[in-house]
Amino acid sequence: MLRFYNTLTRKKEDFTPIDGDTVRMYSCGPTVYNYAHIGNLRTYIFMDLIRRTLRYEGYKIKGVMNITDVGHLMADSDDGEDKMAVAAREQKLTPWEIAEKYTKVFFEDLKKLNIGVPEIIAKATDHIPEMISYVKALEDAGFSYETSDGIYFDIARFPRYGCLSGANLDDQLAGARVEVNDEKRHPADFALWKKADPRHIMQWDSPWGKGYPGWHIECSAMSKKYLGDFFDIHSGGVDHIPIHHENEIAQNEALTGKQSVRFWMHGEFMLVDGGKMSKSLGNTYTVSDLEKRGYEPLDFRFFCLNTHYRKKLNFTFEGLNAAKTSRARLMHLLHDHAAADVGTASEKLDKYRAEFRAAVEDDMNVPLALGVLFTAIKEPKSRDIFGLAKEFDAIFGLDLDKAENIVPSPSEEDIPEEITALAEKRKAAKLARDYAAADALRAEITAKGYIVTDTPSGYKLAKAK
Ligand code: AMP
Ligand code: ZN
Repeated sequence: MLRFYNTLTRKKEDFTPIDGDTVRMYSCGPTVYNYAHIGNLRTYIFMDLIRRTLRYEGYKIKGVMNITDVGHLMADSDDGEDKMAVAAREQKLTPWEIAEKYTKVFFEDLKKLNIGVPEIIAKATDHIPEMISYVKALEDAGFSYETSDGIYFDIARFPRYGCLSGANLDDQLAGARVEVNDEKRHPADFALWKKADPRHIMQWDSPWGKGYPGWHIECSAMSKKYLGDFFDIHSGGVDHIPIHHENEIAQNEALTGKQSVRFWMHGEFMLVDGGKMSKSLGNTYTVSDLEKRGYEPLDFRFFCLNTHYRKKLNFTFEGLNAAKTSRARLMHLLHDHAAADVGTASEKLDKYRAEFRAAVEDDMNVPLALGVLFTAIKEPKSRDIFGLAKEFDAIFGLDLDKAENIVPSPSEEDIPEEITALAEKRKAAKLARDYAAADALRAEITAKGYIVTDTPSGYKLAKAK
């Protein structure tokens, strides 16, 4: 039985879809004002794992992901300018050009990481009428009020506010920063619609004059349009729990009076070198940055799969090197299984299958599922083990089928992992033009009794004679 952890109830619950065998799922997508960094991508890998798990369980999926191309202010609360407008000004492009540029790269990144694209991709700017009518409905039902700069949701009218994060209104008050907008009745009231000043590029006519939608109303309007008032799963990163998703719940449930989403699922954050990722620290790596340093996107995917989605994951290049080495070993061992013409007893295969399914069904314990694969590949070489790995790859998405066609270098099996890891580090150092580090690593490899030589197709390792 498939079980997912539900942020709303803070426990694992049995999962079955509301209607038949199609799961309706909404995932908060990117604000396309910048390249996605590896932290963002960890969250999209998590969403992809949900989709793969549902399919593995035999369900069909109607998935929606939004592309936020307007209305997401610099802070998730209502502070600052629209992120799209800021990026447009800084890069001397229109907000539409900014959106197009980063949306394109976003989908390229998903492809590189084998992240499936949801059935429906909904751009915020294509749904302004739906958002306006949603705000109008909230206004008609008495859940909003108007200030000089916008229409705000009146959270005092929604006593369940805070149900997802467990925060109550007093906590919200205590935690609120010095209020910039003194027309708001409560600091946690949030903008449904912002009135635009004439210089603001993206603006639309509305019953409240020219303006643009708030970020939270996007997700409510688009999920309602495509999935209805009640649906199965809503996913996002943990940072969305306290504001964005609380606000979505308030908007959704104010009108219906009923729980809108059955399972709220959240992916934990990625840290870099034990700390926050930030532009000023220069540690917001993109997939292309990793590629430039000699890693394949799937090394990063594999790195992510080794930690459960509800645990923080600390990114270091050492960790990524280890993942790269381990993935290369996996591919080589699978290559040998693929080449074997003996089989494995079906009871043994079924035992592995059962362990694998149990891990996946237990709130997507992918690290444990990988453990099952790593045990299975220790079996005597057999084509059935390769077949099993391909079955498991429905969850992992690591292109394990390609193991059959890789060309392993003859000496590879004899080189200890530790030495390959050093050689990988040296390759990365060279790509980063850190030649001093590269030389030091070569010396370390030599001292351990191995020789590294560079060839046009990459480095070669051999045992020193
Ligand atoms: P944004 O484009 O800023 O709305 O973020 C896109 C997605 O990435 C959201 O679902 C965030 O929750 C998620 N996210 C942002 N930073 C991180 C991080 N450091 N680790 C994991 N996910 C993140
Ligand atoms: Zn959202």
